[in-house]
Amino acid sequence: TRATVGFVGLGSMGGALAANLVAAGFDVVAHDAAGPDRVPVGAVGAADVAEVAGRADTVVFSLPDGAVSEQVAGEIIALAGRRAAYVVDTSTVGVAAARRIAGRLAGAGVGYVDAPVSGGVAGARARTIAVMFAGSDADCAAVTPVLAGLSDRRTRVGDEPGLAQALKLANNFLSATALAATSEAIAFGTSAGLDMATMLDVLNGASGRSSATADKFPNHVLTERYAAGFTNSLMAKDVALYLAAVQERDGAVRSSPNSPNSPNSRIGAVTASVWERFAAAAPGADFTR
Ligand code: NAD
Repeated sequence: TRATVGFVGLGSMGGALAANLVAAGFDVVAHDAAGPDRVPVGAVGAADVAEVAGRADTVVFSLPDGAVSEQVAGEIIALAGRRAAYVVDTSTVGVAAARRIAGRLAGAGVGYVDAPVSGGVAGARARTIAVMFAGSDADCAAVTPVLAGLSDRRTRVGDEPGLAQALKLANNFLSATALAATSEAIAFGTSAGLDMATMLDVLNGASGRSSATADKFPNHVLTERYAAGFTNSLMAKDVALYLAAVQERDGAVRSSPNSPNSPNSRIGAVTASVWERFAAAAPGADFTR
């Protein structure tokens, strides 16, 4: 018999990940607050979170941020009758939220595996997206088949929820900084008279190479496609979460994401202010535009 997996949040990333579970042979029961249009082919739509968690043992989240993940986790906790035993959260929620959600779910007897992803929508479709996950031995063992259904590239990075978020925030700090720095470098070169395509060719065989020069610029800026499927607001959220985690570690008072109160992440403060501006100007636009 086929196992049933629940899915909540069918946006750019969730739609692709849920489709992978369908292709892997799971019966997928899926819900998105924006309506049934986002339910991928082959999955069954559910009217609400209660219906998803009542029909599946494991529920996967792909939600915008920690506040939404915590709210949906709360809806699962509140279910009186049969409910899911495990939550796999692929959203980028930050370290503090992952710990809080894991604690609340544990109090209700529901396991939580912190499992953020990196590699874009194209990586999700190709099953090469990196899934980094953290959770107890028992919780990780129980959701192993579901994680295998999401992607072929998976690494357990720790036994406590929150550790995978720490790695994901470090990753997105790097990719956000590379993109901001590459934009400045390309603008410098083109204003000096260089051609963008030539610059990218050389940079990709040289030490300036990064995800920005290898993927974002050639596939989305040079081609003017601007369709990597990751919005400015999501990137701004991730860099702000990174900075918040650094400041929490250092016991600093966090007044704003780009506050100068961040002696141990000067680059993080600069990168956060860049993405805050992009998100304020065009929150729903693709990050490369
Ligand atoms: P998105 O905005 O496209 O999708 C989020 C979906 O959640 C939307 O369809 C929305 O309707 C739904 N939603 C919101 N509140 C809900 C609720 N209460 N109940 C049910 N559904 C609800 O965002 P995305 O790009 O798919 O990203 C999802 C998560 O994955 C984010 O945490 C993001 O940081 C992370 N992520 C995205 C990418 C990417 O390339 N897009 C890469 C890595 C990680």
